[in-house]
Amino acid sequence: MQASPAQQSHILELQFIDSEIMQANTKLKSLPEIEQLLHIDKRIIAANTELAIVKAEAEQIALELRRGEVDVETVTDRIKKDEARLASGNATPKELEQLQHEVESLKKRQVALEEIELEIMVRAEASSTRVNTLTTDLSSLETLKSEINQRLASATTDINLLILSKTTARNEVVAKIEKPLLDLYEKIKASSGGVGAASLVADKCNGCNLTINAVEMNRIKALAADELLRCEECRRILVRI
Ligand SMILES: [Zn+2]
Repeated sequence: MQASPAQQSHILELQFIDSEIMQANTKLKSLPEIEQLLHIDKRIIAANTELAIVKAEAEQIALELRRGEVDVETVTDRIKKDEARLASGNATPKELEQLQHEVESLKKRQVALEEIELEIMVRAEASSTRVNTLTTDLSSLETLKSEINQRLASATTDINLLILSKTTARNEVVAKIEKPLLDLYEKIKASSGGVGAASLVADKCNGCNLTINAVEMNRIKALAADELLRCEECRRILVRI
């Protein structure tokens, strides 16, 4: 194919812009905020799951605590009644002895129940502390997520604006290129990882980075400037600069 040096230069210019657009698109997909948000979402899910479990445990403990309180009250009431009966002086000696025994064993039971109640209260305290910690963690995570989302939106807008301006520049270059040459470039670009044209630097193709052999270099040197070159290795359009 024939193409004037100016046309060949436009193709290189187009390749340069296309590479920039490609890099911007890659950057858009690999912004660190995307990974950070995935990580934060995992942490939020884990904290919410644990919070639900701890809250259910806290409810269970509160129930245990109410039962424990009732048990202590019941025993305390029994002791009061027995002590009132003892103080009344109306009981027979046998009854007195029985009542004293009962009060003794009820007092032991009271101490035991109060210990259980105390142990439940310690667990309730621990559970409540954990609920507070998780709630605070979740609130911080949500704040962080919102900040990262803002950074992501801002970075995305910047890159999209860059792509937009590069696309405008691309359209201007495309308008200067003859259709058969442009079609050839697009075809190679589509099948060669987004690079349709490369410059020939000394005896090296800038597209595949391979050195062109001496025989081919001699043939190239003998060709007219408007003869369109293709790299023998990667088949890309090769532009002498
Ligand atoms: Zn090549």
